Amino acid sequence: VSIMEESSSTSTQKVVAVVGGGLVGALNACFLAKRGFSVEVFEAREDIRKAQIVKGRSINLALSHRGRQALKHVGMEEKIVSQGIPMHARMIHSLGGKQSPIPYGKKGQYILSVDRANLNKELLSEAEKYSNMKLNFDHKLKDWSAETGLMTFDRSDGSKQQIRADLIVGCDGAFSAIRKQFLRCGRFDYSQTYIPHGYMELTMPPVNGEFAMKPNYLHIWPRNTFMMIALPNLDKTFTCTLFMPFEEFEKITTGDEVIEFFQKQFPDSIPLIGVDALKRDYFRLPGQAMVSVKCCPYHIGDKCVLMGDAAHAVVPFYGQGMNAGFEDCIVFDEIMDQFSEDFSVVLPEYSRVRVPDDHAIADLAMYNYIEVRFIQISTLTMRILINFST
Ligand code: FAD
Repeated sequence: VSIMEESSSTSTQKVVAVVGGGLVGALNACFLAKRGFSVEVFEAREDIRKAQIVKGRSINLALSHRGRQALKHVGMEEKIVSQGIPMHARMIHSLGGKQSPIPYGKKGQYILSVDRANLNKELLSEAEKYSNMKLNFDHKLKDWSAETGLMTFDRSDGSKQQIRADLIVGCDGAFSAIRKQFLRCGRFDYSQTYIPHGYMELTMPPVNGEFAMKPNYLHIWPRNTFMMIALPNLDKTFTCTLFMPFEEFEKITTGDEVIEFFQKQFPDSIPLIGVDALKRDYFRLPGQAMVSVKCCPYHIGDKCVLMGDAAHAVVPFYGQGMNAGFEDCIVFDEIMDQFSEDFSVVLPEYSRVRVPDDHAIADLAMYNYIEVRFIQISTLTMRILINFST
């Protein structure tokens, strides 16, 4: 069954389509609606505000200064900060169980642990407040034309929908369907690198209704080839993320082997996560891949522009992927002001200004990943190692 619908701009109000209603797409939609465009968000998933289970790339993440600045522009900073947990320092766990804090900056400076699903829901609800905004869920972009701006979406009932927009903003993540069209254009540079490490999330429950470890820290267990980090959640759990090479993940095949491995690498975490939980949860999902994507330029003509992970997926060792994506929104907004929303000038200028900065973030993140593997553990090197920068 194929349903064809078409919407296009009137002479007064330009239609801007944001493809992807994840973190960057939902925030960007607010920026664009604030400007008065007729904004439509197209998200492949169902509405996560109504979903029972929300899948994402991580349960929580670190929000830093860059990200907060962008939230401030759309009046969301206070709300999101009030729902986050300040982390003033990294807390390094030695093999012997000794804990040593390394502050993020001067006294009073901190990054925030925020719940990804909640942040995404809040941003969607904020976007929905604009009368010139329409959120379309269950719309998976299949194809689009850089010449006409016509997009084709697949619906879960098997139907298709076609929509035309004046500007298409690709915020559809690391495996962007929008970006695929860029590959067909000439003079488009593209590279993608999968790192040999994967990641797995494990939950550390509260103890007697309280956090099992000090809450206002980003806990780190650096072990050369292996690493575990833990960020606090509002429900007093910690989400622990274990990073290790895929071949090491695959070596562990039984519950007892999990415990043996943790005994060797992260012994102080075993009673806190719990032996039974560890044995069970390790096998819940396989290790997840991490990819770094670099491309240039970020635009095609005056029709389409990439932002967030669609433009620059980075490995998570610098804690800046979302933050850089949020900053994309501010930079684009400023250029829109500078060039009076003339897409034919704004888009190339955005690529010119933004590509070098995003590539620098990608390089820093990869640099930190390499450090992780070869570093000798000392306080000084640790500073370089797990930067989770502000
Ligand atoms: P996504 O969050 O991937 O959202 C893309 C959206 O597009 C999704 O909703 C998806 O359903 C939708 N979509 C995809 N394809 C289509 C399609 N064809 N049609 C329509 N919709 C589509 N960053 C930080 O700043 N701090 C951290 O601490 C941090 N920790 C991380 C930890 C891990 C383990 C990982 C993997 C990443 C981490 N990041 C962190 C990076 C962060 O997750 C990403 O940078 C961020 O999610 C990018 O947001 P986005 O909206 O660009 O992409």
